[in-house]
Amino acid sequence: MYIGIDDTDSKNGMCTTYLATVLVERLQDYGQLIGCPRLVRLNPNIRYKTRGNGAVAIQFEEKGGCALRIEDTVVRTVEEMAEFNVPNTNPGIVILDEIPEEVKEFSKRAVQDIISIKEAIDLAGRYGKVHAFKNGRGVIGALAAVGATLEEDHTHELIAYRQRERCGTPRHIDEESVFNANRATYPLTWGTVDLANNTIVFSPSSPCPVLFGIRGDDVDAIQKAFEVIKSEPVGRHILFKTNQGTDAHLVEGEMASVKDERSYILGGVVSAPPRTIEGGHVIFSIAENGHKIDCAAYEPTKNFRDVVRKLRVGDKVTVYGAAKNHTINLEKIEITSLVGRFIRQNPVCDCGKRMKSAGHNQGYRCKRCGTHADTPEYVPIDGQLDLGLYEVPPSARRHISKPLIRMSGNVHPSI
Ligand code: ATP
Repeated sequence: MYIGIDDTDSKNGMCTTYLATVLVERLQDYGQLIGCPRLVRLNPNIRYKTRGNGAVAIQFEEKGGCALRIEDTVVRTVEEMAEFNVPNTNPGIVILDEIPEEVKEFSKRAVQDIISIKEAIDLAGRYGKVHAFKNGRGVIGALAAVGATLEEDHTHELIAYRQRERCGTPRHIDEESVFNANRATYPLTWGTVDLANNTIVFSPSSPCPVLFGIRGDDVDAIQKAFEVIKSEPVGRHILFKTNQGTDAHLVEGEMASVKDERSYILGGVVSAPPRTIEGGHVIFSIAENGHKIDCAAYEPTKNFRDVVRKLRVGDKVTVYGAAKNHTINLEKIEITSLVGRFIRQNPVCDCGKRMKSAGHNQGYRCKRCGTHADTPEYVPIDGQLDLGLYEVPPSARRHISKPLIRMSGNVHPSI
């Protein structure tokens, strides 16, 4: 049986992954967990999300006659642990015996698009059992988590939880040991530290029960990093199989059909140069077939903005990111061709002397021999910007964004 759960947490505490971890312990007597529990990141632009729009699913081989007891345990655990008093918390549970194609397709849409509560409840009800609490929105994520088989691509995350009595107090993590763990296991693990910005990024600051999460492609490397990291005592830990770091949210799109709250890969030519606006955000425009869209590297993307600032009108790029207010919030950019880069200089006279301006719109004149020139010189400069893919630093990366270290070709990973 497949059990999906979502929307149990609030900004004040709890975390659906923690609830799933407790549930796995409680279900032990009723059967056998199959594989790792799944942590599925859904459309990162959903306005109702608490943090990273994550939902969880577990696969369970039940002992004969235990199905009802399992369902009862899941419902009781959600009723006991979910933050029901918070208006935006609307838990959902879905239990299916198998994963129909229609549910897999639903799951893909939940990662890339926006889905109604009614569609989710109807579909889940057609194939299995549904428990919708309050307005039932959590059923969307619960069904999507069940349907995410992670066949195309997946990564893993080991989540370490705090001891219960420490929740809400400052976390104690030896930062040096985290950098050591990164040195010992990168690139098989990633997203642990942000070297360019000299900070650890694998631990939340919210009052939730998560102490830290170690992400990567290799389970042994994740385990090794876990052994290297020194911290306050870990209460529980569990390994999730996830769609984090896979870019599953991105759709190859056309500028003309971009919709807000979806994420795209769009090609275009820089049509308005980068400009830095109040707050340190860098904005430029790209155009394609008569359509135009703004692209933004917001202040939290830090050093990524240095790449964006070097773009010139005419450069060809492919942008990756979410659409909001018809602006693409950049997660990655591929620079596919560059126009020439020149600096403008006063021309050099045949006599060898550099000319001076002859006045506004009057060209240039040589002070030594009086020769006149109409136009300045444009001297090519290079070495400013290399072609290839660039990404925001780990501190600004979305859970679902694929780190460039997982991609091949001409990539410039931000470590
Ligand atoms: P955390 O990451 O801490 O678990 P969260 O960010 O996952 O929290 P939730 O509390 O689960 O946030 O809230 C997200 C809500 O949005 C859930 O009710 C979920 O069912 C719903 N949702 C998820 N994806 C979609 C989608 N594509 N369309 C519509 N609703 C969605």
